[in-house]
Amino acid sequence: MPSAPSRHDVVVLGAGIMGCALAHHLRREGVGSVVLYDGVHPCAGASGASVGALSPFPWDPWERGLVRESAQEYREISEKWGLGAYRECGGLWAARNEKDARWLERQIELARREGDGTEAVGPEVVARLLPAGDLSGARVVAHVPHEALLSSSEMTFAYAELASQAGVDLRWGWGAPAVERHSDGWRVRALGGEFSTTSLVLACGAWTGPLLRELGQPLPLSAFRAEGCRLRPGPLASPFPTYHEPGDGLLVRSAPGGRLLVTGGAPSLPADPASANPAADFAYLETIAGRFQDVLPGWAGSNVEGGWAGVCAATPDGHPLVGPIPGAPGLFVAAGFNGSGVMRAGAIARRFASAFVAGSWTELGPALPSRFPEGVRSEVPAPRSESFQAVSTE
Ligand SMILES: Cc1cc2nc3c(=O)[nH]c(=O)nc-3n(C[C@H](O)[C@H](O)[C@H](O)COP(=O)(O)OP(=O)(O)OC[C@H]3O[C@@H](n4cnc5c(N)ncnc54)[C@H](O)[C@@H]3O)c2cc1C
Repeated sequence: MPSAPSRHDVVVLGAGIMGCALAHHLRREGVGSVVLYDGVHPCAGASGASVGALSPFPWDPWERGLVRESAQEYREISEKWGLGAYRECGGLWAARNEKDARWLERQIELARREGDGTEAVGPEVVARLLPAGDLSGARVVAHVPHEALLSSSEMTFAYAELASQAGVDLRWGWGAPAVERHSDGWRVRALGGEFSTTSLVLACGAWTGPLLRELGQPLPLSAFRAEGCRLRPGPLASPFPTYHEPGDGLLVRSAPGGRLLVTGGAPSLPADPASANPAADFAYLETIAGRFQDVLPGWAGSNVEGGWAGVCAATPDGHPLVGPIPGAPGLFVAAGFNGSGVMRAGAIARRFASAFVAGSWTELGPALPSRFPEGVRSEVPAPRSESFQAVSTE
């Protein structure tokens, strides 16, 4: 890194899937000089922990549009470059109580209006699509034929590679930089060098909230822990539609080598991204083993091969925080994905880059930081489970 400040049009902090996709799209939109800096390395945060599900639920139509748009872009990247492991394997959503059943019926109705082939299905279809499952206690089961999966770490590195090839200056590994406001914009100082820019984007995942508070520009972001594990069933699983339970967000997907990846299925707990344990808690693995006995008895004897955790950022209303920060000229944010950032990052990055160039942010309306009045911006919201429901009940 050079020791004198180098001047750039945009500096993006954070090389998770959001920052990498954004750097790529900024160059595609013709932004001249873009630096992408990560304190650790690309994909060091939640993007390296995600199980890579792209789900049309529980979103409102605006958010569903983002998932569709992102899926389209991920498919193109996978087809053109052979990167990201995008594939459509469908989804099965099971509601086991009255409240979840009402919610799921509403989601089926909304999806049906959009004509994506989603429908309620009975026991014969479930037995064919998910022979290891016992959904006899489910009140409503929905089949989402076009639901997709990817490898989020591979997709993050694909964006980093595309961004580098397009001339983005990608740096990492000097720790969290010092960020200061200057008369000519923003200065970002890391060990060994300094960048100056008029436009600084914070795409630091769960670290974004604390960084904004340090800068005196708080936004309502909290950090929570999400865990995952990889299981080896016997016999190994053939590909199957991703299984979801809306109540506690249990998600089970098929993975290469006949393995299963699991996330959700337990309450989201607050976490500090600076000190979070990257291993899954034993209690979480025990909970998952118990759930398998009941809902997926065909895989009840699966062996746990690995467990991990990541830290995500929550907002009060379930929508992310994307765009210019009111009262802080040249400061932008792209964070607060409530545990579902992979499925929306591609679309958010494309819309952010075109809004940045055009100077009009209408395409990102529901995500703009200005939706929160100043008094609310310093509040710390509840973790995902509550905010997640906010967007899904619209
Ligand atoms: C177990 C688990 C399962 C998940 N499953 C799914 C799923 O199926 N589908 C889905 O859509 N989402 C899922 N998610 C959520 C998803 O992973 C996140 O929403 C998404 O990865 C967020 O991406 P990001 O780029 O915003 O943040 P991150 O990936 O967290 O990246 C932030 C980056 O910023 C860097 N950084 C931090 N501070 C600084 C600083 N001061 N300066 C520079 N760099 C900094 C970090 O090193 C990190 O690389 C899951 C998450 C977990 C933990």
